[in-house]
Amino acid sequence: MKSGQTINSDALVVGGGIAGLQAALDLADQDFKVAVVEKDATIGGKMIRLSKVFPTLDCASCITTPKMAAAAHHENITLFTYCDLLSLNRNGENVYAQIRQRPRYVDPVACIGCRQCEYACPVYVEDKEEGDLSARKAIYIPFSNAIPQLAVMDIENCMLCGKCEKACPTDAIDYFQQAQEFTILANTAVIATGMELTPVETKRQYGDGHIPNVITSMQMERLLAPHGPYNRVLRPSDGMAPDSIAFIQCAGSRDKSMGISYCSRICCMYAIKEAMLLSGSLPLADIYIYYMDIRAFGKGYEQFYQTAMAMGIQFIKAKVAFISEGENGAVTVHYEDQNGEGVTTADHDLVSLSLGAVPGWNPEGVCSVSTAADHFIKTVQPKLAPTLTDMDGVFTAGAAPGPKDIVDSIAEAGAAAMEASKYLVAQGLHTKVAA
Ligand SMILES: Cc1cc2nc3c(=O)[nH]c(=O)nc-3n(C[C@H](O)[C@H](O)[C@H](O)COP(=O)(O)OP(=O)(O)OC[C@H]3O[C@@H](n4cnc5c(N)ncnc54)[C@H](O)[C@@H]3O)c2cc1C
Repeated sequence: MKSGQTINSDALVVGGGIAGLQAALDLADQDFKVAVVEKDATIGGKMIRLSKVFPTLDCASCITTPKMAAAAHHENITLFTYCDLLSLNRNGENVYAQIRQRPRYVDPVACIGCRQCEYACPVYVEDKEEGDLSARKAIYIPFSNAIPQLAVMDIENCMLCGKCEKACPTDAIDYFQQAQEFTILANTAVIATGMELTPVETKRQYGDGHIPNVITSMQMERLLAPHGPYNRVLRPSDGMAPDSIAFIQCAGSRDKSMGISYCSRICCMYAIKEAMLLSGSLPLADIYIYYMDIRAFGKGYEQFYQTAMAMGIQFIKAKVAFISEGENGAVTVHYEDQNGEGVTTADHDLVSLSLGAVPGWNPEGVCSVSTAADHFIKTVQPKLAPTLTDMDGVFTAGAAPGPKDIVDSIAEAGAAAMEASKYLVAQGLHTKVAA
């Protein structure tokens, strides 16, 4: 991409998670040209980073990769990864987006994804993709089924030793690559910027990330994933296989002290799923879920919950007051038991915080789309047209307007694509790809 270039498209999709990809595919299948802008170096969003998915326990990677590949290979879809959305405005018929392509320090045309640069790199850095539980190199491909398969150099940690440059068979390394700014001119847009986990640092009572062996739900997903950091479930501080594991629910939701009073909707179900997967990996371990209420709201979810109980997962109705460091790597949970035990404590080898969801992106200063009181994208007709934002011709889907599971994200993405398609047709604005 060259600076100053303008790319014409029918629709712009911001966010290449499962909702953005589904909206892009639904529009592209109707012969509309779609530009997908993703801030990460790969598409796939949260879903590609999960282990398995409730309620079917499908392997997340196995069902996300085909969607990612379908989008990447669709003749009507162009992916722009590792890009920042600088502004999104409407000008008469058009929405135009100012985009900055961050430098990968690797020529995307020359790179063949062979990873020779990665193998040659001598620098090890904590790997965010593995929840910082293992290391990656300073030049790397995010993970084995990342799309696109292009290396990206982490210039902050690079020693400029030149080993990657020597190892690259296609001369793709470019230490002098600069950011490029370009414009995407479209007629409609779908915002699918998803969600992030509540920052663990915001809950002081739960150790603000400083108690060893207290991990986040995303770290638990990685521990359980087939290609996770250790290839099996071990506790991070000493590599011990844990015998007693606890999940703390509402660790970042329904908590006014954190400014997050809403229910994040997905945490009960993902904790039950993770507990079931754990009991498969560690059949002799005792697994506990500390909960206030279990919200198993979707189709098949109540049965999933019942199955977990039948498998021996222990549900303790309690609000956890605080967590402290125990002896020999143990974690002490201080809680008020709602079934008569009163205020008490329990030690576990490993504790997973079921963190809630906060918006993945704040439109302030970038575009005029409003946010609601919960800071997610505001929808102007939440009941009858739940994908409409207050910016003409701009729609939203997935976790961007509020925390959502995959089923609802996919359904909403289809609805947003339909609204966008209707908008294009009604305005007579579309430039359908010639048959
Ligand atoms: C620990 C955990 C376990 C879960 N397990 C399950 C499960 O088993 N089953 C289930 O149904 N659901 C599960 N979920 C929920 C599931 O992850 C979400 O439903 C799904 O990821 C929502 O998809 P999305 O595309 O809306 O958002 P995301 O997956 O968050 O994707 C959003 C994308 O937008 C990109 N983006 C953000 N801002 C910008 C920007 N400004 N410019 C460009 N790109 C941007 C992000 O990088 C990301 O790629 C789980 C969630 C968590 C956290």
